[in-house]
Amino acid sequence: DARRVAFLGLGNMGGPMAANLVKAGVQVTGFDPVPEAVEAARAAGVEIAATGADAARDVDVVITMLPNGSLVKATYAGGEGSEGLLAAAKPNTLFVDCSTIDIAEAQEAAQMAKDAGFDSVDAPVSGGVVGAQNGTLAFMVGAGDAAFARVEPLLQIMGAKIVHCGDHGMGQAAKICNNMMLAITQIGAAEAFVLGERLGLDPQVQYDVMSTSTGQCWSVNVNCPVPGPVPTSPANRDFAGGFMGALMAKDLGLALSALDRENVDAVLGRTSQRLYQAYADGDGARKDFSGIIETVRADQAS
Ligand code: NAD
Repeated sequence: DARRVAFLGLGNMGGPMAANLVKAGVQVTGFDPVPEAVEAARAAGVEIAATGADAARDVDVVITMLPNGSLVKATYAGGEGSEGLLAAAKPNTLFVDCSTIDIAEAQEAAQMAKDAGFDSVDAPVSGGVVGAQNGTLAFMVGAGDAAFARVEPLLQIMGAKIVHCGDHGMGQAAKICNNMMLAITQIGAAEAFVLGERLGLDPQVQYDVMSTSTGQCWSVNVNCPVPGPVPTSPANRDFAGGFMGALMAKDLGLALSALDRENVDAVLGRTSQRLYQAYADGDGARKDFSGIIETVRADQAS
């Protein structure tokens, strides 16, 4: 039923996602405070509103794709002279947040929507900017059955895989659990290849063995941290592009707050958060996260 959509946050991810909706014939009204983001979206056929509330006023679905959870809640609620999205939307508008945010904040945002009479969905994504451009994102959805049924066709336009993970917050839960494990396996791959180097093992031979035996995983088979064995992995281009260290550090920060809240020990998850925060604070913020192998290598005593 979503012929008209408001899209708030037209950045690296939101811009191409909104453009794919336009291409599919959806009427998209957008808002972003950054002029460059607005101009790119306008060129892609997004109608630009003067404020977020104006964008949200007369649509079927409001999508947010913002940097963090406090911004999501602030745009929902409004304040300091700015009208909130919840106050502006007409009855039966569905609120869909695609940002990666803290699970508790996602549940708070869902409660705010509910208190204002609206159903909502958390639908964080994986697949990065390339997935957003190509319409091949994976969406992890936290929602009731009715809201999931309503949002699924819309997400299909922007994504290739849509998974209903449970009620409000469970999309975020699935995303951070996956990314915590990804961080751990990428560090594991780095340590294994650095040990192999020290032992004099040929990296291609090591790859041939590990990628076909029990060490196989995405971090070895696809995102191999040494150049050569997998020509498309970021290690072949000095870790340019890919999934940036800053974003991995952000997601692990969300995992850490969930670990603390739920009293889960998770030695490796906590360690990976520390290592990736240091990576992002160093020169890894804009490099692919597999570049953590350089830190592992540098940390070895000679
Ligand atoms: P981005 O910084 O490029 O885009 C965010 C946009 O939100 C910016 O253009 C900003 O101006 C805009 N914004 C800020 N306040 C706003 C407001 N009040 N109203 C409307 N727009 C507002 O970030 P991104 O890379 O597009 O990421 C967006 C979200 O997606 C984040 O939560 C991120 O964690 C998540 N994510 C990113 C990637 C990725 O590879 N970039 C992958 C998966 C998930």
